[in-house]
Amino acid sequence: MSLTIKILIAMAAAIVLGVITHFVLGSEPAEGVRYVLEDLLANGLFLLIGKAFVASLKLLVVPLVFVSLVCGVGHLSDQSRLGFMSLKTILLYLVTTGIAITIALIVANVLNPGVGIETGSTAADFKAPAPTPLIDVLVNIFPSNPFKAFTEAAMLQVIVFAILLGMAIGRSGEYGKRIANTFTDWNEVMMNLVTIVMSFAPIGVFSLLFGLFARQGMGNIDEMIIYMLAVILTLALHAAIVYPTMLKVFTGLSPITFLKKMRPVQLFAFSTASSSATLPFTLETVEHKLGVNNRVASFAVPLGATINMDGTAIMQGVATVFIAQAFQLDMTLVDYLMVIMTAMLASIGTAGVPGVGLVTLAMVLQQVGLPVEGIALIIGVDRLLDMMRTAVNVTGDAMVSTVVAHTENAIDREKFNQ
Ligand code: ASP
Repeated sequence: MSLTIKILIAMAAAIVLGVITHFVLGSEPAEGVRYVLEDLLANGLFLLIGKAFVASLKLLVVPLVFVSLVCGVGHLSDQSRLGFMSLKTILLYLVTTGIAITIALIVANVLNPGVGIETGSTAADFKAPAPTPLIDVLVNIFPSNPFKAFTEAAMLQVIVFAILLGMAIGRSGEYGKRIANTFTDWNEVMMNLVTIVMSFAPIGVFSLLFGLFARQGMGNIDEMIIYMLAVILTLALHAAIVYPTMLKVFTGLSPITFLKKMRPVQLFAFSTASSSATLPFTLETVEHKLGVNNRVASFAVPLGATINMDGTAIMQGVATVFIAQAFQLDMTLVDYLMVIMTAMLASIGTAGVPGVGLVTLAMVLQQVGLPVEGIALIIGVDRLLDMMRTAVNVTGDAMVSTVVAHTENAIDREKFNQ
């Protein structure tokens, strides 16, 4: 049985059993039943396994990105291409995010998710989160202490340091070659470590989802159903139409093969709701299954997991229209353009961990003068949407990496088609 099938079965079983458990717990069962389901399983065993699993994934992220990127840049024969390649990658990431948010605004204006929503006391009691100012996000890209960057898992800083070190290695002749070869060896070892952790994915995914659904059930969906539908529809359009079209047009490669190979990564992103925790898996898939050469993948994938969040931008677009409608405030064309701009920047500032998209949504709302308290209205249904948008986020990272690899002549088409 392939890993995808195993993860799929684990996911489906966890959601069904989790929802049933939530239902049983809500109907005030006998003390013994409650103890087993809630204390022993949902908040005990499965919480432990789920947390241990996510921790072991996070553990991989910094060393994997560092080793892989130093290896990729260190072996680059023509370093002058690095600047051009980075520019292309960043530009593509911004373009896909821009398209995502534009579609989200259109869909939200057609479905009108916020019309007739009671804003009432939920919004009044809410304390708005404070997003990091954008200027700080940009200044924070430059590390002053690499060890601090490692310990804090500041990914953009780790990326900058790895690129600089890789460049220096590439320019150091014989000495550099020896070190670059050591990094190649380490890269292989790290990839094997990823494979080991991944083999625990089905049980990890089951534990994460069972606990989540047992505690939360399906959430308070009722009047939020149109909002949720608008987000889900846009996510689906983006993943099933925009990405495949771009892939086909730019590279001629088969979108079906691409989506098939990305499926386990998507399921995984769905279960963890974190692009960052999924990063080892995305990188492994992009390199070993989609055939993208390490010199492109090692740079484009971690960068994407940090700055490219199309799914998050989609949620922010729909949420902005939803909140404006719920509070009966009009948005002008300039407001819409502002939303597109700020959501693109917010995407850069959103860390790839669960729920951060809601924090950076505050930045978008403030920019166009909408009430930040509106976030209180959508917070209740955000977890499920977070899982879905994270799956789109990682798909975008892989698609752009494949396109960039194609333009850089760094893709093994045979491996892709295998
Ligand atoms: N959970 C998302 C991610 O990791 C970020 C977000 O939208 O909150 O990609």
